[in-house]
Amino acid sequence: MIDELLDWNDAEPPQASQSANASPWKLLVVDDDPEVHSVTRFVLHDLRIFDRPLRLLHAHSAQEARERLRQHPDIAVALVDVVMETDQAGLDLVEYIRNQLGLAECRLILRTGQPGYAPELTVIHQYDINDYRTKAELTHTRLITTVSAALRAYEQLRALAENRRGLELIIHATAQLMEQHAIASLAEGILTQLAALLKLPLDGVVCTQRGSPFGVDTERCYVVGAAGHYAPYIAQPLERLPNRRIVEAILESVTNNQHIFKSDCTVLYLKAAPRQEAAIFLDSGRALTALDRPLIEVFAANITACFRNVNLVEHLHYIAYHDPLTRLPNRLRFVTDLDAAVQARTDAAVALLDIHHFADLNDGLGEDTGNLLLVAVAERLRARLEPTCRLARIGADLFGVLGPEAQVNPFSLMALFHAPFKVGEYQLPVTIALGLCRNLDDAKSGLDLLKRVNVALNHAKRSLSTHHEYYVAAMEETTRRRVEIIRRLRLDFQAEKLQVWYQPQIALATGEVVGVEALMRWPGEQGFVQPPDVFIPLAEYSGLIIQIGAWVLEQACVQHARLVAAGFESLKIAVNVSMPQFRKADFVEEVASILANRQMPPSLLELEITESIAMDEPKAVAQRLGALKRLGVSLAIDDFGTGYSSLGHLQALPIDCLKIDRSFVNKIDQNQGGLFAETIVGLSRKLRVNSVAEGVETQEQAEFLRGLGCTMAQGYLYARPMPPDQLAAWLRTRDASQARESIP
Ligand code: C2E
Ligand code: CA
Ligand code: CA
Repeated sequence: MIDELLDWNDAEPPQASQSANASPWKLLVVDDDPEVHSVTRFVLHDLRIFDRPLRLLHAHSAQEARERLRQHPDIAVALVDVVMETDQAGLDLVEYIRNQLGLAECRLILRTGQPGYAPELTVIHQYDINDYRTKAELTHTRLITTVSAALRAYEQLRALAENRRGLELIIHATAQLMEQHAIASLAEGILTQLAALLKLPLDGVVCTQRGSPFGVDTERCYVVGAAGHYAPYIAQPLERLPNRRIVEAILESVTNNQHIFKSDCTVLYLKAAPRQEAAIFLDSGRALTALDRPLIEVFAANITACFRNVNLVEHLHYIAYHDPLTRLPNRLRFVTDLDAAVQARTDAAVALLDIHHFADLNDGLGEDTGNLLLVAVAERLRARLEPTCRLARIGADLFGVLGPEAQVNPFSLMALFHAPFKVGEYQLPVTIALGLCRNLDDAKSGLDLLKRVNVALNHAKRSLSTHHEYYVAAMEETTRRRVEIIRRLRLDFQAEKLQVWYQPQIALATGEVVGVEALMRWPGEQGFVQPPDVFIPLAEYSGLIIQIGAWVLEQACVQHARLVAAGFESLKIAVNVSMPQFRKADFVEEVASILANRQMPPSLLELEITESIAMDEPKAVAQRLGALKRLGVSLAIDDFGTGYSSLGHLQALPIDCLKIDRSFVNKIDQNQGGLFAETIVGLSRKLRVNSVAEGVETQEQAEFLRGLGCTMAQGYLYARPMPPDQLAAWLRTRDASQARESIP
């Protein structure tokens, strides 16, 4: 019976199997009777229990036993005699094992010579004693079965303890992994923790996720964590891994959405959310033991939470650094890239691309079409520029490129815009302005660099010829000056230091003053701070013109009231309107309410818009001009002849007057110079509108224009623009001299 239960292998040579070198169970025999030692040795000698040999340790006193136990904390079973040095020596030893040494798993079998020495039942419970036998009871067979049962119990306890330690390790590992916010560091953490948990080499673990770490490919698996010789494959598609066994095992796991436990490896499958899956390959070289498997499953469940966490963070990160429309990196990201380039002293160039008239296109064709165009531009940039170029969408219609000069130069970048862009049903031609900067390391930071390119871009936008500019330090000086002028203009406007002066307009046929043009002035300590040619474009650029323009209109009304008071109630007042004013959605309402509040008859107001406003956007402009006409206001086209109006266009606009630009009037005295003036006057007659010649300085010019049939003139010949309080006096003197001249 014993032979059946146990494996006597006295004569057999050690086997080369795994069990042959399995570590032996350690058994401690504690007894002061040498006889007991030899009997025990005889019975248990060369015995294998649960496929492991036994190693007997002997102690002849409780004292000696303590020493043995200290040396061998992994003793599985101790057979302890109760009565030795004292009646209690065995029980004291048990107390020592459990409480002093803290060995909770070691199994204890008490032996006593006489039944009378049996310990209390409470003691047996208290010290977790497995068995209590009189020596007579422990016969050969009994001893073996008792020891076997104790060993089994020991093994179970040890497994439980190991499990608990494993769980503690996992909880600790999870806590650490939870702190990881980037997929790369999470993967690295998983690698180290798993390798430690299963005692695997680091390159025995490969982490993959479904979907590219760059957010482009959402289907394929990518390696996100690997060490040793697999490290170079991080961020690469899984198939590139040179080890087919790993690739196939991972694909099997991801296809079937489950963990895979094989005889030589394990794949953990993690699903954080519907489109967030990962698989971790463990090259265990063996099947996971019954002990490891539940642990690893718990670990997998825990890291799924970490993985979800990281994906959330990565997603937030993506949102924070990308433009949702074009999926290009955004300004924030571009500045970071520029920072890196500045620091690395990279031999590269930066460019900012601004789409001409994007706002018009957006207004004209609708925002959806505008968005599609931006996406198309982003796609072309992505497709046609080398992958080494860093792209970004910096603003509404503003793109950034950082890359080698061979790519980032005006010629190459402009060439990208030669072909029109297919947007829905349209083929849209697009032109751009380019600001560029090289010598990146001159810049202090990425932001500084971006500022420089932007300065260059602004110069490029203003330049009519090239549409591209490289940054040079002198530009900043210009920019600084411009910014300073805008600042002072704003302050002086608020301090009511601006003035509106008036220049008379004369009917060429009669010599009568029929109107005045309101012209802004910016007086300073000495003379004028800046002429309107300088500060008006800056006011337009800064948007300040919207408030200033409205104020000029008010002043014109105030001037009308003064003229009425002085007896000149039918004089027209012409007021210049800038593009930003005209574009304002409620411009017409604003004009109407100013006129109403100031009680100025609309028929006495003439609004001068430039040719570029008139040609801006045919339908919207015609509509707005129509609304102004219905108010009763008259309309003039300023600086006519300097733009490129199409005649067809012009005919469709409800205008009352063409103003012939000063540059043409100037030329009248030269050969053929009058041709332009002649053409414009002819045109105005065809359109049945008035014509006003600007900048008439000589009697000859005036005569010539009168001869052409030009209706009005304005210029130094008659009067320079003058302050409001001088206008009435001038008009009276003029009336007086006219009256004198008309006396025969
Ligand atoms: P503009 O509308 O073409 O105004 C005519 C300009 O010609 C004025 O220059 C006027 O002073 C000048 N001028 C008049 N007669 C003669 C002449 O015989 N010879 C010469 N050489 N010049 C003459 P100014 O006042 O310097 O204004 C320049 C430009 O500034 C204006 O051109 C207009 O575009 C803009 N501007 C002036 N005031 C305003 C305003 O209140 N609002 C807006 N939006 N623009 C204004
Ligand atoms: Ca004007
Ligand atoms: Ca003009």
